[in-house]
Amino acid sequence: DYIPGGYHPAYIGEYYKGKRYKLVRKLGWGHFSTVWLAKDTEDNKHVAMKIVRSAKNYRETAIDEIKLLSKLNHTDPEHPGHQHLVKLLDYFDHQGENGVHICMVFEVLGENLLSLIRRYKHKGLPIKFVKQIAKQVLLAMDFLHRLCGIVHTDVKPENVLLELEDVEQIVQFLENAQKQRKEMLKRVHSTRVSSASLGDQTSPIDISASIDEANDFPRTMSRKGRLSRRQTLITGSQPLPSPLRSKSNSFFVSPLDTNQTLPGTTPFRGSVSNFDMEDLSDNHSRVLESLSSISISAEQRLHQWEPPKAEELADDDILRVKIADLGNACWIYNHFTDDVQTRQYRAPEVILGAQWGCSCDIWSVGCLIFELLTGDYLFDPTEGRSFSKNDDHLAQIVELLGPIPQELIAVSRNGKLFYHSDLQRLRRIKNLKPWPLQNVLMEKYKFSETDAHEITDFLSGMLVPDPKKRMDAAGLSNHYWLNDCNVEGYVDREVGTRGEDISGWYKEVRLHHHH
Ligand code: ADP
Ligand code: MG
Repeated sequence: DYIPGGYHPAYIGEYYKGKRYKLVRKLGWGHFSTVWLAKDTEDNKHVAMKIVRSAKNYRETAIDEIKLLSKLNHTDPEHPGHQHLVKLLDYFDHQGENGVHICMVFEVLGENLLSLIRRYKHKGLPIKFVKQIAKQVLLAMDFLHRLCGIVHTDVKPENVLLELEDVEQIVQFLENAQKQRKEMLKRVHSTRVSSASLGDQTSPIDISASIDEANDFPRTMSRKGRLSRRQTLITGSQPLPSPLRSKSNSFFVSPLDTNQTLPGTTPFRGSVSNFDMEDLSDNHSRVLESLSSISISAEQRLHQWEPPKAEELADDDILRVKIADLGNACWIYNHFTDDVQTRQYRAPEVILGAQWGCSCDIWSVGCLIFELLTGDYLFDPTEGRSFSKNDDHLAQIVELLGPIPQELIAVSRNGKLFYHSDLQRLRRIKNLKPWPLQNVLMEKYKFSETDAHEITDFLSGMLVPDPKKRMDAAGLSNHYWLNDCNVEGYVDREVGTRGEDISGWYKEVRLHHHH
């Protein structure tokens, strides 16, 4: 893909916008772009830089994304949802060998919620975190829908990122760890060269000494010049910043999304690892092998790091998030396409090909919150021999929430493809087994009756099949389930409002042109 129209072959140390931004390491990538950690030499801080592929359609999408992001910047910063959307800091064109690339500059954020779901081994996050995330995401949605006139259309765990508390400290640590690792490898390598010239007569002590030197090893070598078995090797002189960290320091936020980092550019997080010196003393190639396994194990430790359990949380622990990726967003008065939303988070009106609007995001928020609570998709349709993914998706929705209103099916583009003419029975799936949400939560996920009842009360306002009757974000942000969630920010709106006064709530707004 590094061809004309493709990704820009960026490299560490490369400068952008004259000498303003200098690339440090890769943070992640998506369909449209690669995202880099960069040093802003003018403001002396680090930023995330999204370099968009140069082909014309990517470029046009990026221009739309910039317009949408600029709208956020120019809309009431006092609204409590404003702070929960990623901010565009700068943008410019960059001439590369594969064409002109649009670059967008953002603040640096941490892991996305999918990696947090994985860290909790798909067993669900503590309810406290889910409440906090729900509140922040709803405030952000209210800001987008009501104040900006924007539909996100791609709300899902990958697009909600954790905030970082101290970007500069984390970057500093990563840089030190990498520097030390390079230094260490260089020294071991030169030991190997000199030992080769000695005809492989080097004694074990030479190797351990050179490793020792490179790592500020405590001088614990025995007389024989060997390190005691299972000696701990320290590859970074600073303590590893905890992958997650909060105000109260009882839990932590991962510096970078390790699941998203490309091989070869993975940040080395120097750390402590068990190192068996005796095993290494035989030959040098094994030393090198073990050294590379150190870096792998440091990486793995971060991957394997376990997030806090519910009972370990302090009262003032707060997990702050921001919504990112407006690459698929659109205006309430200009939907760019009807092919919207990621499958599992797709609203029934979108599946049916009916009119849709802001409220399709609320459906996705419902799916997202269920997934945070349980670690499982709410809907995960599959195709069968006699039915399509859409058939299965509709069947799953009906089983959980009851029938889809006939009026919606009647006015939709594709309703007749899925339904018999009675607009009740699906054509290709006959036997539906109703399993209501509250029962699923109790029977499958073992929530208490009280929790299951409250969660169902909250989610059923979002999982309303009729897009016109779905509850709106600001109303939902005042739901009693979120009362004790510790997130600041209040929008004065009653629970139970259904977007009655929100333009574009359930359909595209027609602009009237006056001549
Ligand atoms: P695309 O539109 O190409 O999908 P995204 O905006 O989704 O691009 O970014 C791609 C990936 O880059 C994200 O999934 C995330 O891992 C990483 N990323 C994006 N923005 C940031 C940021 N501000 N800070 C840290 N990582 C980011
Ligand atoms: Mg993306």
